[in-house]
Amino acid sequence: MTQASTQAMQFELGEDGILLATLDLPGRPMNVLNAITGAGIEAMVARVETDPAVKGLVLTSGKKDFLAGADLEGIRDIATAQEAFDLSMVLKRQLRRLEKCGKPSVAVINGMCFGGGFELALACLHRIVVNDGRGKVGTPEVKLGLLPGGGGTQRIPRLVGIQAAMPILCEGGEIKADKALALGLVHALAPSREEAIAQARAWCLANPKAQAPWDAPKFRYPGGDSRSPAVAQMLAIAPAIAAGKSWNNYPAITHIMSSVFEGGLVDFDAALLIESRYFAACVVSQESRNMVGTLWFQLNAIKKGASRPAGVPPSKVRKLGILGAGMMGAGIAYVSAKAGIEVVLLDTTQEAADKGKAYSQGLLDGAIKKGRGTVEQRDALLARITATTHYESLAGCDLVIEAVFEDRAIKADVTRQAEAVIGAGAVFASNTSTLPITGLAQASVRPEQFIGLHFFSPVDKMPLVEIIVGQGTNDATLAKGFDYVMQIGKTPIVVNDSRGFYTSRVFGTYVMEGIAMLAEGVHPRSIEVAGQKAGMPMPPLALQDEVSLSLGLHVADQTRKDLAAAGTAYTEHPGMAVVRQLCEMGRVGKKAGKGFYDWPAPGTKGDKRLWTGLAELFPVAAQQPDQQEIIDRLMFAQANEAARCYQEGVLRSVADANIGSIFGWGFAPFHGGALQFINAMGAKRFVDRSRELAARFGTRFEPAAAVVQQAEQGGRFSD
Ligand code: NAD
Repeated sequence: MTQASTQAMQFELGEDGILLATLDLPGRPMNVLNAITGAGIEAMVARVETDPAVKGLVLTSGKKDFLAGADLEGIRDIATAQEAFDLSMVLKRQLRRLEKCGKPSVAVINGMCFGGGFELALACLHRIVVNDGRGKVGTPEVKLGLLPGGGGTQRIPRLVGIQAAMPILCEGGEIKADKALALGLVHALAPSREEAIAQARAWCLANPKAQAPWDAPKFRYPGGDSRSPAVAQMLAIAPAIAAGKSWNNYPAITHIMSSVFEGGLVDFDAALLIESRYFAACVVSQESRNMVGTLWFQLNAIKKGASRPAGVPPSKVRKLGILGAGMMGAGIAYVSAKAGIEVVLLDTTQEAADKGKAYSQGLLDGAIKKGRGTVEQRDALLARITATTHYESLAGCDLVIEAVFEDRAIKADVTRQAEAVIGAGAVFASNTSTLPITGLAQASVRPEQFIGLHFFSPVDKMPLVEIIVGQGTNDATLAKGFDYVMQIGKTPIVVNDSRGFYTSRVFGTYVMEGIAMLAEGVHPRSIEVAGQKAGMPMPPLALQDEVSLSLGLHVADQTRKDLAAAGTAYTEHPGMAVVRQLCEMGRVGKKAGKGFYDWPAPGTKGDKRLWTGLAELFPVAAQQPDQQEIIDRLMFAQANEAARCYQEGVLRSVADANIGSIFGWGFAPFHGGALQFINAMGAKRFVDRSRELAARFGTRFEPAAAVVQQAEQGGRFSD
């Protein structure tokens, strides 16, 4: 076993005595760290240690990437901190043996080299990256509430210094080859894999007595260890700054800092034990369980097509029509052309259509200035967008998306005009944010090919598209919509038609709850701070200013009218009276420079400030609620509404609920999404607290029947 190639690792001993170990996990498109890879690493280490014919090791990957990280199934199944500690020590001991075996070792890094993969490379004494534009290293564990438990929090600070290591470990970004070289994380770049392997062999032969810097007797941390005054000063304040930025919601960040700090007081082997202790604390934290479950497993399930109808052959959009070249249409044109799709961008005037196309030009010029794109790339992308006023140009489109004004009559008109031109197989989609899809489909001669594709603003930055299935939408249309969203590199969630769909409906409860509290006399600053402490990307009042109060009012008025026409009762949220009151005073939001805040004039510097007049309109009550109560109201309002969407069948899966909430409106990621919030708390606790809130603040807090049932009979939200 120790001498021969293993399932995941092929060995080839050269005449020069250099062992070429090629990691190639069978049956998987990527190498990941799992038991099979672990056996391969174990065999590799044993061979280098014991085979006298082996003079040095070159470790490379047989796939297009080096190793993208650990198999998180192994981590998800860990029940106790002790198990987590033991697991991380197994790999770490092997890596340490390799590092200390007295023979030179080189990692040849091709493509992505992240997490455990990078830690494996860090345990080699020398690292060469294949510089073909794809080579990247990094430790993204923090993004799932974990820390690099394979020595990363110890080797990286010892390589680049504690100060430089902090952002690498605490932000978890991808580091391109040239930056990794400049930082000192890797030692050399090579133009090709073959060249890199040749360089690696030469390095081994030239450095037979190589050792890790930290194993040299006179080793010093670059910039000083944890005791040095400059570092100690930085470490004294860094956790406070990080906690301030993250509102103390992400314990992995402080665990990483503690591991780096404490590791910098002791020798390397003791430091590895310290790291495993903090790794274990991360693994068993609720935050990490939430994030691994949602942002890894559920996200992957979505990307693999869990909500796409099976049996419909995959499709690609070659030519896309966009009706309305405003803010949304222009953004959709950009992301689609970027994905290589030919785009026809149509508006009522050539000027408006051109302006929509110019939006892409602006983004691309900006990228060129920042060195992130070339003139050729820009011109090629722009050449794919045709700005026009002529419907005939839509001929041959596989998909048409309308993004005209939010007005049923205009939408119906453009639907008819486009359908008269496009082929029988083409799909028609609406980007409406509020109008039910089934109703809009009435203007279509083929409602089975009509669907909602709800983008978020700004389109080029927001990762989600909410796909809305109307009553008449067929599976082939849904599959085509799904494939298109994947084609442009966004994440699709699929929901059934309903007023506000899923995202707008639940998001609205967050801002409205904040606004309702203002009317009750809660200090506006307390509401805003609680929103941030809750982990939301923006506090509720500022957010309503951003999306505009007048838009909120318009949607509420439209909803009331529609429900009255259908003979359905409409209960207005208490926050809406406040919105109406401010709108009547012309305080309609950021665009007008005034809403809940006074906003600095466009182009001028300065901070927005809560409008002092709020104090007169909504006098602050003498008795203020504690912060947790405000947070509970903001979060329970959302989670409960998400649960209602689930029980009403608006949501089709728990994964869509959770991912949609985080990617769509930034529901606090450490909770793992709006339904995972309830799972993590436990249905019983959720129901009890909801009932307390309902008794004091209104029936909107009455727990959703689905959760009441879970509390009584057991069960949780799961797919
Ligand atoms: P916008 O006002 O910026 O753009 C609308 C564009 O449609 C304008 O350029 C207008 O000239 C054009 N238009 C109007 N009538 C037309 C017609 N008959 N034929 C062709 N073009 C016509 O609006 P927007 O913010 O881009 O919103 C467009 C749609 O997207 C709306 O349905 C809106 O609800 C929805 N939406 C908006 C957002 C957002 O954040 N703004 C988010 C999601 C969805």
